[in-house]
Amino acid sequence: MVDYDQIIVHYHEVALKGGNRDLFEKRLKRNIATALRPYGIHSVMRLRGRMIVSLNPNANRPAILEALQRVFGIAYFAPISLAEQRIEAIQRRVLEHLGDRRFTSFKVDTRRSQKSFPMNSMEVNRVIGAAVQAATGARVDLTDPELTIHIEIFDNQAAIFTEKLSGAGGLPVGTGGKAVSLLSSGIDSPVASFKIMKRGIQIIFVHFHSVPYTSVASKDNVERIVEILNQYQYHSRLYLIPFLEYQQRITSVVPAPYRVIMYRRAMLRMAEAVALRHKALALVTGENVAQVASQTLPNMRAINEVASLPILRPLAGDDKIEIIEKAREIGTYEISTAPYEDCCSLFVPGNPETRANLKRVRELDAQLDHDTLVKEAIEAAEVKEFRWFKEEETETA
Ligand code: ATP
Ligand code: MG
Repeated sequence: MVDYDQIIVHYHEVALKGGNRDLFEKRLKRNIATALRPYGIHSVMRLRGRMIVSLNPNANRPAILEALQRVFGIAYFAPISLAEQRIEAIQRRVLEHLGDRRFTSFKVDTRRSQKSFPMNSMEVNRVIGAAVQAATGARVDLTDPELTIHIEIFDNQAAIFTEKLSGAGGLPVGTGGKAVSLLSSGIDSPVASFKIMKRGIQIIFVHFHSVPYTSVASKDNVERIVEILNQYQYHSRLYLIPFLEYQQRITSVVPAPYRVIMYRRAMLRMAEAVALRHKALALVTGENVAQVASQTLPNMRAINEVASLPILRPLAGDDKIEIIEKAREIGTYEISTAPYEDCCSLFVPGNPETRANLKRVRELDAQLDHDTLVKEAIEAAEVKEFRWFKEEETETA
């Protein structure tokens, strides 16, 4: 790869319909700056539908490329060479950019967003194409070239690049408000959180544990999962909520087949209380229709009714195999498959109800003072903050 001090960042214009453009771009700019801050960048500039990241001379370039791949809202990005906006200067820079690189076929793809430049895109393609052909002996191939030389003309300069890297897509985290995600240390809920984050939502995590009844392993695993997911939103809060007391109250009045449903209702109530505290507007779960007993439609209905906020279930219709693939890609799979005891397997013998009777659920439910139990659980919660970098780690000049 050529030496470079700038990176061009492109995003999908379709995301920008209506009045959201300014919000989207501001947030994207901020998120890029945050994501790259530990690695030595000088600035991020917004220029006509794209951004230019300028690097410090000693910047950690491989780390920067890796971190950019995790910034939601980016369609693609590329290390660039910049040239003055004159055709001779562009030509010289293109040849420098190619260096002694060998290729047998190529095309030039010019985008001109500054119409005051005297040549149109086709003319630039032709002139630069001829120069590259003369210098390298490679032939022009417009349909299946080995190398595409991109030239973008904007803002009184020209950017040249040949290495296009895919971005993560989605929308910049923070543009869509906040949601509370119920995070177990299983495979599904980390993937569900990831998918909603990718739609621009800042996630607050809640995890329910039954320590000391269950070991601390699920708590530790959840913290490791949040650390991984935090790489996409840079600042996360995790509520570790003790659930044992509430669970014991449930088991004292609810027969075994209905306990999982009651646990789930309790979890939603607690998650909603956290959401209200942070002005979050939705809940997120890793539920997947018919995957386990609590996720049949009758049971989902019986669980759902205690929440007033919308519950987002981004995995509802996915196959397990797709979810596992995604978990591997994100890097949470290994942690999720480490052994742990799940709080919901506590006090639950063999056969849970799969077709909950709503009337029965409500009768059982009415025996408990949920408001107080919720309040006590949340007051006893441990809240952990996760930050993408510590101040002393930054290399910024
Ligand atoms: P996961 O793989 O996410 O644990 P699952 O397939 O095991 O999901 P369940 O155990 O029925 O399914 O849980 C359904 C959803 O309830 C989870 O995806 C998660 O959102 C939430 N949940 C379950 N247990 C907990 C917990 N201990 N703390 C927080 N949320 C939980
Ligand atoms: Mg689970």
